[in-house]
Amino acid sequence: MIGEPTIFGRIIDGEIPCHRVYEDAHVLAFLDVGPISPGHVLVIPKERVAFLHELSDDAAAALGRVLPRIARAVMSVTGCSDYNILQNNGASAHQAVFHVHFHIIPKHADGSGLGIEWNANELVDGESLAASISEAL
Ligand code: AMP
Repeated sequence: MIGEPTIFGRIIDGEIPCHRVYEDAHVLAFLDVGPISPGHVLVIPKERVAFLHELSDDAAAALGRVLPRIARAVMSVTGCSDYNILQNNGASAHQAVFHVHFHIIPKHADGSGLGIEWNANELVDGESLAASISEAL
């Protein structure tokens, strides 16, 4: 790890308390302290990287393995049938804590939950863009 630990690193280390809902060797999940809606949970890797694209395959697999299970538990407890998974990377993309995290945000009948502005455009040069991304993998 380079630099000061983030607030989530300090939660992993037990220096800062959290309302833990799940933990294994690679993953920790806890309630968001500023929930957008009741049942808003954060799921984080214990690997200390800021952005999704920096995650090791093992840490990514560990997250992927438990996310649906935690989502099911949130649905069961809150009664929501709809929810968003949000994962921000970079300050301009609304990331405030620079340790990878997935938000599970229930969408409740009262309208509480994530608000999304979705400015769809027409796809331009799809074939060459897809080929370029594919080649970059
Ligand atoms: P993001 O904008 O994706 O970086 O979201 C960071 C989230 O972390 C916000 O929803 C905060 O409410 C949440 N957060 C910050 N500090 C804590 C904390 N100590 N315990 C739980 N959630 C936190």
